[in-house]
Amino acid sequence: MINKLTIVGVGLIGGSLARALRAAGYVGEIIGYGRSIGNLQQAVELEVIDRAEVSLADAVRESDMIVLAVPVGCMAEILEQLAPVLDDRAAVTDVGSVKGSVIAAARAALGERFAQFVPGHPLAGTEQSGVAASIADLFQRRRVILSPEPETDESAIARVRAMWEAAGAQVATLSAEDHDRILAASSHLPHMLAYCLMDMVVRHDDHRAILECAANGFRDTTRIAASDPVMWRDICLANRDALLAALRRYLDDLGELAAAIEEGDSEWLLEAFTRAKHARDALNKKL
Ligand code: NAP
Repeated sequence: MINKLTIVGVGLIGGSLARALRAAGYVGEIIGYGRSIGNLQQAVELEVIDRAEVSLADAVRESDMIVLAVPVGCMAEILEQLAPVLDDRAAVTDVGSVKGSVIAAARAALGERFAQFVPGHPLAGTEQSGVAASIADLFQRRRVILSPEPETDESAIARVRAMWEAAGAQVATLSAEDHDRILAASSHLPHMLAYCLMDMVVRHDDHRAILECAANGFRDTTRIAASDPVMWRDICLANRDALLAALRRYLDDLGELAAAIEEGDSEWLLEAFTRAKHARDALNKKL
C-alpha cells in the first residue's frame, strides 16, 4: 500500500493511475503537481487527486511513490527540479513512451538517487488526453513494461511492480534498448502513419469529397491521428534512431507494394495481403 502518492502531470495516464489505485484501496493520499492550476483544480473536483501543490518540493514531501506522467520532452526538466528535493524514502517512476532518453535524463539529474528511479511504460492509452479523459480501468489486464538499469534498487522495482499490479496491470521487464526498438514498430510507427495519412488527405484538393466518403476503414486507420501533437512530437525526437529505422523499413515495403501494383503483379499482392490477413486474424484472437 502507498501512503502518499505524488502524480507529476495529472493527465490521461497520471489521472487514470490515480483513479485505479484509489479504486483498489491501494493508496492513502494522492497529491497532484502540474503546470496549470486550472487542470489541477479540475483533477481535485473530479476527485482524481486529494489536493494539488504548485511547488514540486511541497508535492513530493514525505511521498513514498512519485510518478512522472508528463510528456517525454519535459521529463529532463522535471527530474532536474526533483533531484534537490527528493529524499531517500520515495520510489520514483515514469510512464514515458520512450525509455532510453528518460533514463539518460534521470541518470544525469539524480546522481546517487538514480537507484530510486524505476523506468516504466504502461502499454495502455487512448487518443484522448487530459484528466477529464482519465478512467480507473485503463490498465486492467494491460501490460506495463519496466526497464530497470543495473543500478536500480530491487525494493524500488518491487514497489513499482506492486503499484501497477494493484492498478490491474500485468508487469513485464525489457531493456530500454529493446523497449525503444519494439515500441518504435508497434506504436510509434503506426502513429506516424495515421498522422501522415490524415494530413495528406486533408491537404488534398478533393479533401471534402474524400472525407465525406470516409467509412470505417478510414476512421479505424486514422483514429490515433487525434492523439496529442506535443506528446508525439516529443516521442519522435526522443526515439529518433529506432523510429527512423522502422519508418525506412516501412518505406521500402511501400515501395515494393507500389511496384507490384504498377507491374500488375497479382501473385505478389495476393501473397502479401493473405500473409497480413492471417497475422491480423491471429492478433484479433489474442486481443
Ligand atoms: P496528457 O493527458 O496531456 O497529460 C500530461 C500532463 O502533464 C498534463 O496534466 C499536463 O499539465 C502536464 N504537463 C505538461 N507539461 C508539463 C510541464 N512542463 N510541467 C509539469 N506538468 C506538465 O498526456 P498523457 O497522455 O497522460 O501522457 C503523459 C505521458 O504518458 C507521456 O510521457 C506519454 O508518452 C505517456 N504515455 C501516454 C499514453 C497515451 O496513450 N496517451 C500511453 C502510454 C504512455 P497541463 O494540463 O497543465 O498542461
